[in-house]
Amino acid sequence: MTDPWETAQKQLQDAAAKIALNPTLLKSLLTHDNNIQVSLPLKMDDGRTETFQGYRLQHNNLLGPYKGGLRYHLDVSEGELKALSFWMSIKNAVIDVPFGGAKGGIALDPKKLSEAELERLTRLFTQELAKHIGPYKDVPAPDVNTSPKIMAWIVDEYSRIVGKSTPAVVTGKPIEKGGSEGRTEATGLGGSLALLSALQKLNLDPKKLTVAIQGFGNVGRYVAKFLQKQGLTIVALADSKGGIHIPDGVGEIEHIERFKEEKGFLAGSYCVGSVCDIENRGKVGGQDITSQELLELPVDIIIPAALENVITSENASKINAKIVLEMANGPTTAEADKILADKGVLVIPDILANSGGVAVSYFEWYQNLHNEKWSLEEVEDKLKEKMIIATEAVFEIQDELKVTLREAAYIVALRRLQNASEKGKR
Ligand code: NAD
Repeated sequence: MTDPWETAQKQLQDAAAKIALNPTLLKSLLTHDNNIQVSLPLKMDDGRTETFQGYRLQHNNLLGPYKGGLRYHLDVSEGELKALSFWMSIKNAVIDVPFGGAKGGIALDPKKLSEAELERLTRLFTQELAKHIGPYKDVPAPDVNTSPKIMAWIVDEYSRIVGKSTPAVVTGKPIEKGGSEGRTEATGLGGSLALLSALQKLNLDPKKLTVAIQGFGNVGRYVAKFLQKQGLTIVALADSKGGIHIPDGVGEIEHIERFKEEKGFLAGSYCVGSVCDIENRGKVGGQDITSQELLELPVDIIIPAALENVITSENASKINAKIVLEMANGPTTAEADKILADKGVLVIPDILANSGGVAVSYFEWYQNLHNEKWSLEEVEDKLKEKMIIATEAVFEIQDELKVTLREAAYIVALRRLQNASEKGKR
């Protein structure tokens, strides 16, 4: 299995070579400022104590406080978080928000814990992290398997520890606890905006395009909804339990969401109009597929929106889509990236495509610190502006230097980081 940190280092070195990046800055970006690891002995509901490993990797704070999500997943490890925290530094520079990069999490299967256990574990983790985080130090956010409710527990515990209400310690909170309008859907909306802007440049009509999406969580379902609204046809969806492929379109995403909520899985939800019934399978020509098969479907656009390392040297040559919109972090290995580039597949890289989430996280943090409350419309307008500016900047560099979109996004970011470091911050 490819180590995502190896992929990340290769991406950085390739882009740095294109612009002769200052070697001192390159060296500093290849290392992490802080690697915090904590042991979390949790009292389980049945009285046993189980110990979990918690992490916070703080990569770089040249542009501002460390910023990045917390992930609750069995695969959480130092290597994975090294890559994810580094990508946050780069992403924040691409979308131009005043944050550095961090990422953290706990290695566990959260589905095996009761809600009370999850809350106690989150509070324990917050106690251990308290001296390392804060509105001007490091601002966590939700990621895989962490929710606004979990963010609210962190605010509550952190505020108790420091003795004052501090909503700006995390973003992605519920609205009534200081969250921003539009944060939940921000990553999906941002990715859709980046894709639409790319389609416009390529002179492609959204209404004629088919899409397959891997991952039906926060990111996958919103990107599906926004793209469907713009007239693209979503023909396949997959989550951790399996996927569906319906060549004429999967039907309204809201129906599939309802089906998944009721039954707990996607496969079998062949929704046509208002009908969401497994018996329709034969009638609509749909079939169950695996989440790996989804990536190889004959569609125009594939959207990995689950986990990293899903497009590798094993399957890259079998990708039929012309465009890959990377909504997950690090879905494509370095070898696969090269194969896709040689095949002429346009990859809209994660560090641009999924940066809408952190853009609205920045808006949330700003509103908390300035005691402001923006309307959904205001948030969406500001997000739209940020995504369009970032996408145009990336396309401009791609055109000027004849590089891939990923290299172009890195170059946009590295130039910003170099400017900050020359201004004497580091
Ligand atoms: P989530 O926990 O809400 O959803 C994850 C989804 O992936 C679920 O539907 C799950 O079933 C699915 N999944 C897991 N393993 C799978 C597999 N093997 N095949 C197919 N599907 C699988 O998480 P999310 O917030 O939607 O995040 C998804 C990705 O987007 C992650 O890489 C995350 O780092 C990235 N991301 C999220 C945000 C955000 O704002 N939430 C921002 C930037 C990037």
